[in-house]
Amino acid sequence: MCCTGHTRASRAGLLAVVACLAMACLATACASTATGSGGTGPSGVVPAAAGDVAASPAALRASRATRSASPPASEQPSAPAASLAGITVGIDPGHNGLNGTDPSFINHLIWNGRASETCDTTGTQTAAGYTEALFNFNVARYLRTALLAAGARVVMTRASNHGVGPCVDRRARILNDSGARVAIDIHADGGPSWGRGFTVLEPVADGPNDHVISSSERFGRDVRAALLDRTSMPVSNYYGSNGVQFRSDLAGLNLTTVPKVLIESGNMVNATDAALLTSPRFQRQLAAALLAAILAFLGTK
Ligand SMILES: [Zn+2]
Repeated sequence: MCCTGHTRASRAGLLAVVACLAMACLATACASTATGSGGTGPSGVVPAAAGDVAASPAALRASRATRSASPPASEQPSAPAASLAGITVGIDPGHNGLNGTDPSFINHLIWNGRASETCDTTGTQTAAGYTEALFNFNVARYLRTALLAAGARVVMTRASNHGVGPCVDRRARILNDSGARVAIDIHADGGPSWGRGFTVLEPVADGPNDHVISSSERFGRDVRAALLDRTSMPVSNYYGSNGVQFRSDLAGLNLTTVPKVLIESGNMVNATDAALLTSPRFQRQLAAALLAAILAFLGTK
């Protein structure tokens, strides 16, 4: 269901949206509500002014800083030409802010398409305690706002940063069932302290994802190019090959029937990367880059 009937995105609308996002004219509060995939459990219904709860004082301060960075209403993104009208985009902000409070749930085993793995993990964090879960959610929220402004329907795998789960296999199903044309899993890495940079993780054919391997690789190229072009994060110097790594052990990639990649946005353990990753300005830059990649992917399909 993922590879037919793509509509070319309006180039003018594309550029307007990206330029708007790059100028940091996004509100952190959500303008409207996305529709989830139905069924039980987290289904992507994101509340207005999502009140994500930080897992540490440092993260809470950063979260407040993010909100306080909201521009005046006159600078809110005006919905440009509805370049993504009728198109659904999936966003999976990795982990969740309270995963650490329920280890029995988070550690239970699920089937990732090739093997058993745990439902999820807590994710990593910076030395100052800014959590990856919060970073992932903040970037997702910026991206969601921009996508909505461009006319897209957006489905997210979790609605806040103060919950537990859903498990990684459930996240894949939410996006598969959403009708999304493309989806992005947003993460940041916990690598060696000397290591810097981002890596795009791409799926390996395993049956369920067979029909989205080549499209995911194309989307991965768009993501890599957009990050290099629009952010100050370099390609990883410790993981993958020139910013790309194929992974056959992740449910989100093994089970996807939607063109998808997972972005390790940087290394939270590295001080230089951490300064970027915790900055609302960088988070908006990254969201703008991901938006540009999504638009490029859809526009050239
Ligand atoms: Zn992660």
